[in-house]
Amino acid sequence: MKLHVIASSSEGNAYAIEGEGETLLIEAGAPFEGTLKAIGYQVKKIVGCLVTHEHGDHAARVKELADYCVDVWASPGTVEKIAGKLKPQAARCLRSFRREEGAEVYDTFTLGGFEVTPFATRHDSAEPVGYYIQHPQAGGILFATDTYYLRPTFAGLRHVLIECNHDADKLQANAAGRIHGMTPELARRIRESHLSLQTCLSTLQANDLGRVNEIVLIHLSKNNGDPKAFKKAVETATGIPTYIARPGLTIDFNINPF
Ligand SMILES: [Zn+2]
Repeated sequence: MKLHVIASSSEGNAYAIEGEGETLLIEAGAPFEGTLKAIGYQVKKIVGCLVTHEHGDHAARVKELADYCVDVWASPGTVEKIAGKLKPQAARCLRSFRREEGAEVYDTFTLGGFEVTPFATRHDSAEPVGYYIQHPQAGGILFATDTYYLRPTFAGLRHVLIECNHDADKLQANAAGRIHGMTPELARRIRESHLSLQTCLSTLQANDLGRVNEIVLIHLSKNNGDPKAFKKAVETATGIPTYIARPGLTIDFNINPF
């Protein structure tokens, strides 16, 4: 099994988890051509695409997936927002999952051999979610982005893809100096919708990482982040090999690394 990073930033997000006979896509915020190229144009292997929320950098390209009849899965609130921007023909590819009233975690559903459990995240969008995914070839995979906080913890993790958006101190300094167009108001919005390095570290440490093969840091801010420093901080805190998601990155995603 392999992870392909097609795009990972506020400009666009798209990932593919490719197995021998089936591929799961996550996010539809980058040109679909890039995803197709990454998976060798094997469209028939795609079992579906999971979308976390309706913002353009995660969902603007749903129409392109619909052209290939790929099912796009999201929460009911997200589906409603996305559907409002699509022609009825394209909106037919949208699928939503359910949760019991007030529950943090949604009902588990399967796409091919992928068992998917969505969970609530905290972001300035209608009904954002992250995903806990299990597959016999890969083990447990956490995918969490665009959230300032992550309440649930996850058992059986082998692979972690987690947002590491900004350094809280750097964001504050940029806002105070109005550097890179940052204002105190914008800084507040970022703090209340994206995961800082500091919260990313405490979230990782709240989970059992004993069997995690690698951590992939996603959705870094260009101006408020520092890829080298983030990688070092996470590796030092966890002792686990850490990657910064960038277009073209492919990682072995088998359950056992060797
Ligand atoms: Zn967003």
